[in-house]
Amino acid sequence: MSLGISWVTAWIDDTVEVVSHNRTRLSELDREIGDGDHGENLDRGFSAVKVKFDTLPDDATPGAALKLVATTLISTVGGASGPLLGTAFLKGAQALGDAPEINADGVVALLTAARDGVVLRGKAEPGDKTMIDAWTPAVDAAGEAAAAGASPAGVLRAAAAAASAGAESTEPLVARKGRASYLGERAIGHRDPGAESSALIITAAADAAAATEG
Ligand code: ADP
Ligand code: MG
Repeated sequence: MSLGISWVTAWIDDTVEVVSHNRTRLSELDREIGDGDHGENLDRGFSAVKVKFDTLPDDATPGAALKLVATTLISTVGGASGPLLGTAFLKGAQALGDAPEINADGVVALLTAARDGVVLRGKAEPGDKTMIDAWTPAVDAAGEAAAAGASPAGVLRAAAAAASAGAESTEPLVARKGRASYLGERAIGHRDPGAESSALIITAAADAAAATEG
């Protein structure tokens, strides 16, 4: 089994829907420890991605499609999360090159490059209470699943479960990056909105892969 452009378009369709559905909740999380705009920021970005995807040629490669996501997020999201997630999609796209299909190792390479892009851009470490706390466990779980022989959809399922647990794990943390770092100990007890949205995006990737695999 491998994943191609139909998986990418299903993933992005799911993400557009899930971000829109969770817009208020993500902004509420951001209101607790930031400025309350995270859901709006992402919804604006992925709504723009949806429009751009209408112009995507049928024979586009997964890498080209993800690059379009990246450039659109960077130019429309605003806030810290735009350049960070934009860089994640850009580096993920570059890792795929012009390959038409992605196998289990390709999924690991995609997630790893995406996570490394966020680190390159934002310099956060695990435990800093950022989206890295969703991406890094996802990368680790994906690597383990691929090494154990999982399919691309299985690798993504493992990544999604780890990302969701990672987002939850930000609750007891003090933030060391982004706006939430100004709050010191008052950030304790609140989930990081960017970790939560990254978990939603990775879960959408897994759901789309499961549907594609049938
Ligand atoms: P802003 O903070 O500019 O309002 P958003 O609300 O859209 O931007 O995004 C906030 C999220 O961005 C945080 O919850 C956190 O996950 C993420 N974030 C902020 N700074 C960093 C960083 N340096 N590295 C990784 N993620 C970060
Ligand atoms: Mg914000």
